[in-house]
Amino acid sequence: MPHDSSDHFVHVRGATEHNLRNVDVDVPRDAMVAFTGVSGSGKSSLAFGTLYAEAQRRYFESVAPYARRLVQQMGVPHVQEITGLPPAVALQQRRGAPSARSTVGTLTTLSNLLRMLYSRAGTYPRGAPRLAAEAFSPNTVAGACPRCHGLGVEHDVSEELMVPDTSLSIREGAIAAWPGAWQGANLRSIVSGLGIDVDAPWRSLKAKDRRWLLFTDEQPKVLVKPERDRVDYGYHGTFWSARAHVHHVLATSKSASMREKAMRFIRSVPCPECGGTGLRPDALKVTFRGLTIAAVNALSLTELVEFLRPVADLSEAAAATATADSGEATEVAVRLCTDLVARVRVLLDLGLGYLSLGRSSTTLSPGEAQRLRVATQLRSGLFGVVYVLDEPSAGLHPADAAPLLDVLDRLKGSGNSLFVVEHDLDIVRRADWVVDLGPGAGENGGQVLYSGPVAGLEQVPASVTGAHLFGRVAAPERHQRVPQGWLHLRGISRHNLVDLTVDVPLCVMTAVTGVSGSGKSTLVTQVLAELVRRHLGQAPEDAEDAEVDELEIDVDGVTGLESFDRLVRVDQRPIGRTPRSNLATYTSLFDAVRKVYAATPAARERGYGPGRFSFNVAEGRCETCQGESFVTVELLFLPGTYAPCPTCHGARYNETTLEIEYRGKNVAEVLALSVDEAADFLADVPAAARSLTTLREVGLGYLRLGQPATELSGGEAQRIKLATELQRARRGHALYLLDEPTAGLHPADIALLLRQLHRLVDAGNTVVLVEHDLDTVISADWVIDLGPRGGDEGGRVVATGTPDQVARVDDSATAPFLAARLA
Ligand code: ADP
Ligand code: ADP
Ligand code: ZN
Ligand code: ZN
Repeated sequence: MPHDSSDHFVHVRGATEHNLRNVDVDVPRDAMVAFTGVSGSGKSSLAFGTLYAEAQRRYFESVAPYARRLVQQMGVPHVQEITGLPPAVALQQRRGAPSARSTVGTLTTLSNLLRMLYSRAGTYPRGAPRLAAEAFSPNTVAGACPRCHGLGVEHDVSEELMVPDTSLSIREGAIAAWPGAWQGANLRSIVSGLGIDVDAPWRSLKAKDRRWLLFTDEQPKVLVKPERDRVDYGYHGTFWSARAHVHHVLATSKSASMREKAMRFIRSVPCPECGGTGLRPDALKVTFRGLTIAAVNALSLTELVEFLRPVADLSEAAAATATADSGEATEVAVRLCTDLVARVRVLLDLGLGYLSLGRSSTTLSPGEAQRLRVATQLRSGLFGVVYVLDEPSAGLHPADAAPLLDVLDRLKGSGNSLFVVEHDLDIVRRADWVVDLGPGAGENGGQVLYSGPVAGLEQVPASVTGAHLFGRVAAPERHQRVPQGWLHLRGISRHNLVDLTVDVPLCVMTAVTGVSGSGKSTLVTQVLAELVRRHLGQAPEDAEDAEVDELEIDVDGVTGLESFDRLVRVDQRPIGRTPRSNLATYTSLFDAVRKVYAATPAARERGYGPGRFSFNVAEGRCETCQGESFVTVELLFLPGTYAPCPTCHGARYNETTLEIEYRGKNVAEVLALSVDEAADFLADVPAAARSLTTLREVGLGYLRLGQPATELSGGEAQRIKLATELQRARRGHALYLLDEPTAGLHPADIALLLRQLHRLVDAGNTVVLVEHDLDTVISADWVIDLGPRGGDEGGRVVATGTPDQVARVDDSATAPFLAARLA
């Protein structure tokens, strides 16, 4: 393919990826280009699915000829020709779960420098040999603590959890971790046979026996005489200690509920050997300016800069002396500290000073993780590269957006191109060029409405983006409802919230605002959610979460919880983690579809029930892919990837199932319909029609019914959850909690979403959302603004009241932006 670099444009011809309609577009290089349009219009299909995918394909081909076959299996972007395309780096808000072992330090590669600093310039105990840099990493064989293998924690059963009530006897169920029913009775007989009193209170048993019952690995076989001797023969029963039983369940049980029950007896405790740092003991004896590397990893980035600066500022470095105990003032120390300080400063500029290097990447918000990657790229020294970014403004308070734009400008200034999928109009205004897709979503989108400098978009009547950008859209509705009571929370402490007191109004919509790290998510999605959940006795939504983080919430007093009869969290977490779950299965709309198919004369004749039409059931599904539609391709050096199933070509079903038709379509063809199309097709099926209506109301008419959960964006997942809620239309008083519901949404979609949320409030419910979008904040009835800054400098209520009241508060970082929007 000719590489046309004579002009400064990337030329795309005939792009048809997903919904793109034979798109021809020329996009400038060395510029910041914003890709805009309503959700589902095709922005990602063009920026990621076409431009980035093609750049990546060319890269693979150039580095590894064997990859050619792989690339064909992965699918080549549907485009006739692209010229002038430089290599690309994607900075996506990654949806998959990052590894628990990666941290802020490893993501940014700052950990490497810090380890080098400890290796080369640390203060060692007298006579101790210098350690290699790897010895300071818990992720290497050289550095990992021998006891916990670098994890820093140990997971094991705990006596308190396994025996919650020591006044009970074994017969009364003292050992909560043992199985119930027959197995439990069996174990009791065995214990009795071993000569231990099963009717004495647990605490009166000998300590040695208690330990043995709970923890032993021995499994004696005992001749058991059944307790109720209706039968007169005995049998040999095998003893399992409580720990052995829990471990056995976790290792072998396929039942989610059994595993969940077993997890309740497990606690993770910091490893006693390394104090939770994951490092080997001799690495923890090395210090720099009096601190171990573990202590430095725990400093906030703001503190880290203060800690390293005195060394970075030394003008006269001592000669490097490899034999000296301390190398603090050596040339190598000065150089490394200077480098570290410069790189950490970029993170401070991006408003991330509240993070620490040791913070696990699993606890970062997608926006935080993306900003870390952006900052890391600044230092990579690449030029002539296209960075493709996914909504860099997501999760950003307006006050944090300006520094991010400065960093993006610097990336551009060093000779790179930036292709940014973005909704935030303030960021779009700063772009050099805008490619606007539309006019609608899905089938109704996929055309380039405009490609050119931002100002020209004003002249494009069909562009919804233009209408919003140039103020042709009515301001959002204001409500100003009066609270019907309050939830009072006193003395909350968690993360950076310290003894916080806050009041949340009932039966209105409240927006919780504040800069990144101020404590919004901690307050709403952890403290508030957990208090209400516990009060209602609802099960934790995600069993995994409950395992990872046994939420300890410190709170002095709460009143008002009794007004809620239900808690609903509408978050951006995926609706499923495998391609087996999709929109139709999640909303249970598919149940209605399967019944329709089972009720057709042909199905009844063959005896096909509704189960036959599930791609998760053996009879009906394609055997090659087990109903997954894809097969996994494992490749050396590359993450596993999917290829379409060679047997059913993605249909998921076997041929006999596909012979059954309803109104001329088989079940796979129904899964291929968009919500809009299905609304027509299934108009006579009330249970399905109801779901479809609510899905359209939240702006998801363009999604296909069978679109796998793994292909949905966080914003789409969230709106599916919301639609599922709306279709239930229950009475009572629910508390709805939403974490940045507008992330990933075009202003036009935000308006749709707000209408639905206000409908919930009008029906008597309470809505609390964490939010940055100013239109959303001013449409709320009440605002709680946290701050004034992130981390230890935040965690306080800076302002609270109606949007108009908060807009007038002096110390609030949000106030000036609100005031400007309300003016
Ligand atoms: P945007 O980025 O503007 O929100 P997308 O490019 O993600 O839009 O989607 C455009 C259209 O392509 C939508 O109709 C969407 O449902 C569809 N689509 C997105 N991803 C896939 C996929 N992996 N397979 C098939 N269709 C897809
Ligand atoms: P916001 O939602 O306003 O961005 P968060 O509630 O996420 O703020 O964070 C508030 C403070 O708590 C920050 O200092 C952050 O670093 C800290 N924090 C948040 N989550 C965790 C966690 N899982 N572990 C440790 N600290 C955390
Ligand atoms: Zn350890
Ligand atoms: Zn198949």
